[in-house]
Amino acid sequence: MITRFAPSPTGPLHLGHAYSAMLAHDMARAAGEQFLLRLEDLDRERCKPEWEMLIETDLTWLGLNWPRPVRRQSEHPGDYTAALERLIALDLIYPCRCNRADIRAALSAPQEGVPLGPDGVIYPGTCRARPLTERAPGDALRLNMAKAAALAEDLQFTETGPIHPGPHHVSPAHLTQGIGDVVLARRSTGAIAYHLAVVVDDALQGISDVIRGADLFEATAIHLLLQRLLDLPSPRYHHHQLIRDGAGKRLAKRDDARALRLYREAGKTPADIRAMVNLPSAS
Ligand code: GLU
Repeated sequence: MITRFAPSPTGPLHLGHAYSAMLAHDMARAAGEQFLLRLEDLDRERCKPEWEMLIETDLTWLGLNWPRPVRRQSEHPGDYTAALERLIALDLIYPCRCNRADIRAALSAPQEGVPLGPDGVIYPGTCRARPLTERAPGDALRLNMAKAAALAEDLQFTETGPIHPGPHHVSPAHLTQGIGDVVLARRSTGAIAYHLAVVVDDALQGISDVIRGADLFEATAIHLLLQRLLDLPSPRYHHHQLIRDGAGKRLAKRDDARALRLYREAGKTPADIRAMVNLPSAS
């Protein structure tokens, strides 16, 4: 079993990250195999070297170890553009110039009534007919979901986590109506989107089991589809519960009060952290 923890260095790790990393580490170690750290740092505006250093310090303090050097997405742009080129060759990609306001206007729906999928607002398709040759600087690149879904029959994945047990099927209707034309290269920066980078890396690093928070369960359908289109293997998935604060709110990186570093500085031990998130002590 090869597992990974794949944070984006955009802020301090909190208890929820600690849980995810320790669970992935413990599962790989229990199987006598490997746990990897990967830094998902394609968003150059939000990722900072100091967060990256703190991530490694926090994880080392927790008693985790992993092979080095770690994979940093920003160092492998060619791997992601090669994947994008394959999708372009399949004629599945189109340029999109819509900003958020354009999308809302096209949906002509009130703020609270817009259809949402795991990748945000479901795109109304305004630019779908534009050929790639019309791509202007700053345009995003989107996946034509109807065409893509038609190429990918019988998508299914194995979920080993406790929240959504069982094999799951992903239907073309769900892909088109529940997710829509996802962005694979971002507006203005052209940065490769998470969904594309994550499937490329999970395959390149031979990840057998993706252990991550339940907030990404719905996005797994997108990953399955991209794996099929790119001829990549699909790992097993294990989506775990999210660690919430005392008021039941999901922890976010901006909630500095829950940052692992603060627990460390306050004298807590890694064993205390394990107890706080209900994980058995390290063997
Ligand atoms: N980089 C993603 C995050 O920080 C995690 C991706 C994943 O585990 O698939 O939320």
